[in-house]
Amino acid sequence: MSKSEQYFKEAEKYLPGGVNSPVRAFKSVGLDPIFIDHAHGAYIYDVDGNQYVDYICSWGPLILGHSPHIFTDHIADVVSKGTSYGLPTEIEVEMAKLVVEAYPGIDQVRMVNSGTEATMSALRVARGFTGRNKFMKFEGCYHGHSDSLLIKSGSGTLTYGVPTSPGVPAEVIADTLVARFNDLDSVREQFEREGDDIAAIIVEPVAANMGVIEPNPEFLQGLRDICDEYGALLIFDEVITGFRLDYHSAAGFYGVIPDMVCFGKIIGGGLPVGAYGARREIMKVVSPEGPVYQAGTLSGNPLAMYMGKQQLTVLRDHPEIYDFINRQAEKLAEGIRGNIQKLGLPLTVHQVGSLVCLFFAEGPICDYDDVMKSDNQHYRDYFKAMLDQGIMVAPAPFEAMFISTEHTDELIERTIEANYNALKAAYQK
Ligand code: PLP
Repeated sequence: MSKSEQYFKEAEKYLPGGVNSPVRAFKSVGLDPIFIDHAHGAYIYDVDGNQYVDYICSWGPLILGHSPHIFTDHIADVVSKGTSYGLPTEIEVEMAKLVVEAYPGIDQVRMVNSGTEATMSALRVARGFTGRNKFMKFEGCYHGHSDSLLIKSGSGTLTYGVPTSPGVPAEVIADTLVARFNDLDSVREQFEREGDDIAAIIVEPVAANMGVIEPNPEFLQGLRDICDEYGALLIFDEVITGFRLDYHSAAGFYGVIPDMVCFGKIIGGGLPVGAYGARREIMKVVSPEGPVYQAGTLSGNPLAMYMGKQQLTVLRDHPEIYDFINRQAEKLAEGIRGNIQKLGLPLTVHQVGSLVCLFFAEGPICDYDDVMKSDNQHYRDYFKAMLDQGIMVAPAPFEAMFISTEHTDELIERTIEANYNALKAAYQK
C-alpha cells in the first residue's frame, strides 16, 4: 500500500471524506487522493516521493510558484515576533495601501480570511449601503460557500433558483437571482421586473470555476450600465483574477470599474486571506465606522499580510512577470490546440491571461449550459494519464490550469507532449 493510501485510510476516520475541501478527494476522477509532502517552484512532491509539475498551484494563490525565497527568507523572523495579536499592526496598513493603489476606483479594503468571507461580507455591505435585499449572480460562477450564494437555476427558469446544497433553506436564497453568464438579456429581463429591489450584481469578471470563460466584449460594460441605470452596485469577485490577469486585476485588464471588489488567493501568497474593497462612501457603512457588522479574530493576520505584501510588491515592481506567464499560457494553449487537431478530437481550449482550460466538449463554450456538455469520463482517463507522466492537473473537470513564473519553456513543452500522449490514451481506450 502506498503512503498516500495509508494516510487516506486514516484520514477517512477523522475528516469527512478524508479531506478538508471536497475537490481534494479526487472523486471526480475516480481515484483516491494523493497526499503532498512538499513543493518547490513548479513542482509538487507526494508522500511516496513522486514529483509532479503542478498546474493546481493551490488553486491560484501561487503566481510565483511554490515557496519562493521572498516568502521563505524572512518568515522565521516574522513568526518569532508573534503569530497574531488581535490588535492593529503597521503591515495591515501597508498591505491595504498596496491593494488600494493597485485596484482602480477603490479607496479602502477590509481584510478577511478567505474568498468566501470576502464575497459574503461584500454582499452584506452592498445590501446595507443600498437598503435593498436582492442580488444577482451568474449560473456557473462560484463565490465561495456562504448560504445565499449556493444556488443554481431551477428547472425551466433561470430567475428562481434552488439551493445547491442541503442545509441551505429556500428562504435564504429567496433574494438571490440567477442569470446567464455572457447573456445581458437574461440580466436585463430581471432588472426590468425588479431592478429597484436589487442591491448588487456579483460576477467573476472571467468565469474561472466552470472551466475558464472570457466575458464577451460587451458583457462587463453591459453589467456596469445596467447597475448604473438601476442604482445597484457592481461587485467583481476577483478572488481568482485579482492580481493574476494584470497587476490592476480584471478591472484594469478590461477597463470596466466595479463598485466593489473581492480578493483572496494571490493577496495571501498561500496563507488564508481574503479582502473586500470599495469607494469610501460605500466602505463608510462598515463597522466600526458604520452600522454594517463584520469582524474577524484573525483578519489582517501578520503572517498572511507578510506573504501578501511580499508577493504583491514583486508583482508591482516586475510588470514583465505578466508578459511572461501570459506568454507561457499562450504557448501551452497553442500546444494543446495543436494536439487536439492532430488527434481530431472534439475538444476546446480557452486561455485568458495565465489561466488555461481544456474542455472535453466542442466549442463555442460561452456559459454553464455549454460547459455541461463536457465528457467527464474521458477527463478521468486523461487525468490519470497525465498523472502517470508526472503532470498534476486538477482532479476535476471545469477547473483552470494555473501558470506561475516557474513554468519554464521546458516544462510547458513537456506538458504539451504529455497532453498529446494522455489524450491519445484516453480516446483510444
Ligand atoms: N470566489 C471565487 C471566484 C473563487 O474561485 C473562490 C474559491 O475558489 C472563492 C470565491 C472562495 O474562496 P475561498 O475558497 O478562499 O473561500
